Amino acid sequence: MWEKNVRRVIPYTPGEQPGRRDITKLNTNENPYPPAPGVEKTLREFEAGLLRLYPDPEAAQLTEAIAERYDVSPEQVFVGVGSDDVLAMAFLTFFHGKEPILFPDVTYSFYDVWASLFGIPYRCPPLDTQFRIRPEDYLAPNGGIVFPNPNAPTGVMLPVDQVERIVAGNPGSVVIVDEAYVDFGGESALPLVERYDNLLVVQTFSKSRSLAGLRIGFAIGSRKLIRYLNDVKFSFNSYTMNSLTIACGKTCMEDEGYFQKTVARIVATRERMKKELAALGFSFPDSVANFLFIRHENVPAPELFGALKENGIYVRYFAKPRIDEYLRVTVGTDEQADRLLDFFKKYLNDRRA
Ligand code: PMP
Repeated sequence: MWEKNVRRVIPYTPGEQPGRRDITKLNTNENPYPPAPGVEKTLREFEAGLLRLYPDPEAAQLTEAIAERYDVSPEQVFVGVGSDDVLAMAFLTFFHGKEPILFPDVTYSFYDVWASLFGIPYRCPPLDTQFRIRPEDYLAPNGGIVFPNPNAPTGVMLPVDQVERIVAGNPGSVVIVDEAYVDFGGESALPLVERYDNLLVVQTFSKSRSLAGLRIGFAIGSRKLIRYLNDVKFSFNSYTMNSLTIACGKTCMEDEGYFQKTVARIVATRERMKKELAALGFSFPDSVANFLFIRHENVPAPELFGALKENGIYVRYFAKPRIDEYLRVTVGTDEQADRLLDFFKKYLNDRRA
């Protein structure tokens, strides 16, 4: 009988973590390069005795390092256990109205899960045929707005002047721009934060900073937004970030040179992959993220997905309306790209024969 009182939810399904090192793992948009070298040093030198104490609930060291890097006040920064945690807190805090919140029909598949969990009504304006967000769709009455920029899983960027149109057109709502992939060639909406107190920009250490396993995400916004976010966070769990993560995150954020270098490498590999994939008969929206959303003119995506997997190459496939002909492929190292491209060349060749 107790089941009638259970909160039933359909959870988000993350990409597979095979736990084997021989896999060419291009399925969860991780960074193929290790984190900044200082992180290893911080790990080695971390005093285990410190774990006796509760961590700093404000994670001040980390918050200050982020504030310094993005030239904002520490009171404009909120940190969490990955951007999933930050986004969940932001949904809980800011999406508490009666009108439906808005996010695109093709987007990060956690948004509808949080909306359902928290009982937030939502509506999903369709992307256009080229997978672009249409800003005018977001000028209708709403209880809040959230979208990734660049979008996932398409990699398509909405220019910042269009983001501004959405933010400026919705003074009665909080607009969350999820910039998980912005460092790979997108343009950040952060400069708008000084002018619009309803804009929350969310970023992560999981992609461009190679720390998916450590779990650090952050949001930057007006002082008022950040105060409201902290009030909800401290009503939920004061100690979400552990001391070791706080120390490693600070070290990572301070190494700008390494960050720039690894991001540039991934961008170079991505641009080469675009040329070679096009030559093999693939088409894709022009991604500015660390992944490509590809379809082949003759071969169905589920077939390619299966064949890749059998050959130890993992990519992501979403059996969902509008995108079930596509594969999302993470941009890894040049060697990983070669493995993928060589496989495609051989597979397509054999299939024709
Ligand atoms: N936003 C988007 C668009 C993502 O693709 C991801 C990665 N799954 C996240 C947020 C969350 O990443 P993390 O929690 O690792 O910061």
